[in-house]
Amino acid sequence: MQKKIVQQLPKVELHCHLDGSVPMETLKKLAEKQQFNMALLDQVIAPAKCTDLVDYLKGFDIIHKLMQTYEQLEESAYATAKAAALENVRYMELRFAPLLHIEADLTVPEVIAAVSEGIRRAMKQYDIIVNLLICGMRQHSNEDNLMMLSEVMKTKEDLMVGFDMAGPEPDFANDHIEPLTTYAQEKGLQITLHAGECGCAHNVVQAIRLGAKRIGHGIAIQKDEAAQEFCLEKGTVIEMCPTSNIQTNAVKDWKDYPLLDFLEKGITCCINTDNRTVSNTTLTREYMLLTEHFGISYATMKSLNLSGLSGAFTTVEVKAKLSSVIEKAYAPYV
Ligand SMILES: [Zn+2]
Repeated sequence: MQKKIVQQLPKVELHCHLDGSVPMETLKKLAEKQQFNMALLDQVIAPAKCTDLVDYLKGFDIIHKLMQTYEQLEESAYATAKAAALENVRYMELRFAPLLHIEADLTVPEVIAAVSEGIRRAMKQYDIIVNLLICGMRQHSNEDNLMMLSEVMKTKEDLMVGFDMAGPEPDFANDHIEPLTTYAQEKGLQITLHAGECGCAHNVVQAIRLGAKRIGHGIAIQKDEAAQEFCLEKGTVIEMCPTSNIQTNAVKDWKDYPLLDFLEKGITCCINTDNRTVSNTTLTREYMLLTEHFGISYATMKSLNLSGLSGAFTTVEVKAKLSSVIEKAYAPYV
């Protein structure tokens, strides 16, 4: 596959964190405006190999200091969606945790309004559809996350389509979050959960039992056939994030990366950046790495994008329209 063509082909991305994906030039612009210690920005991009997930997450504290006002959030959301649109991502779900953006004087509904406004500005200017996923954070209590969700639901913002739990998985397993997933589903949000990023296949099974239609990362099922069977039976979509998975040591090395193994078994997978800036990547780069390490073809790339679309939290109309866009654009290459 050639980079120029991969970049031009329409793509779908379901697992992308807003805070980890604000373009570096936007972060710099925001930092300059508030006389921020610019040297700190050097720590935002995580090392190619971190010790573990917790080590990988360190740079986020710096980013969050620049995402606390309405203007900062609007600009961050706009610039992130624009960057994705410029590499022809046609459908994207952007996730963020409102409780990480209320350190100044914003309320949760204001956070939602700011992000939504930025997204709408990008959608007006570029050929991209973006929906939003709300993240609860594992290090926050169920009570705090429930309160956040009830504030979020008051906004009736129709860009919000799903709920996720992010943050340090080893310390806060999915066994404890049932009140949150139950409440979110009652309120009409669909569920995708981070699970199996830190070696625990049980977390994946538990997430599916809680109603997750998709699993963020899911790598741990690599060594658990029963969990793989369960994903197959339920039609669960695995949101794979190759660069990030190798950085956090969810997978040691490319040669151990389970994508082809999962595809062979019929498990539905899609490809994502996780954090465009923190992982210093783009969706184009992720596909180029997959062709470099596994020789994937345009046909596989097309099917990975159609799988993403099949698991997207959007309407059948949007899915039908984008699926025909994908069919047409990939036709000359497959
Ligand atoms: Zn993630």
